[in-house]
Amino acid sequence: MLRHVQPAAVFMGRLPYGADLLAALNQVCIEKEITLGRIEAIGAVQKAALMYYNQDKQEYETLKFDRHLEIVALMGNVSLKDNKPMVHGHIVLADKEGNAFGGHLAPGTIIFACEVTIQVFQGTLFEREREPQTGLPLWKETR
Ligand code: ZN
Repeated sequence: MLRHVQPAAVFMGRLPYGADLLAALNQVCIEKEITLGRIEAIGAVQKAALMYYNQDKQEYETLKFDRHLEIVALMGNVSLKDNKPMVHGHIVLADKEGNAFGGHLAPGTIIFACEVTIQVFQGTLFEREREPQTGLPLWKETR
């Protein structure tokens, strides 16, 4: 189930103010031709949209937060879906009292400031396809 990958390169930088966080991460991967890797980021957002996967219904429920929040941690990976790089990110956010919550990063999370590190790997590419047991687009098993 686990495959060997080799570290190849690391990109570090800042994402633009006002950009959609998930779209900006996907854009970096397309521009830098990153098809396999891991992502981490910290910063702050102007507002956030997260998703929670309802396992019984096998569908995502969206959570929206129309307020300023810290990005305590964003962790994610890059692989292929429909032959294009796809960022899968999970994020922990904190409010002004320090309360933390999180979920699956969704479109609609708008950057205030974001410092990101992307580690690129070489190896067999990971492709996503719908997995029937979970209903999720998971990594294909290798033969
Ligand atoms: Zn997820």
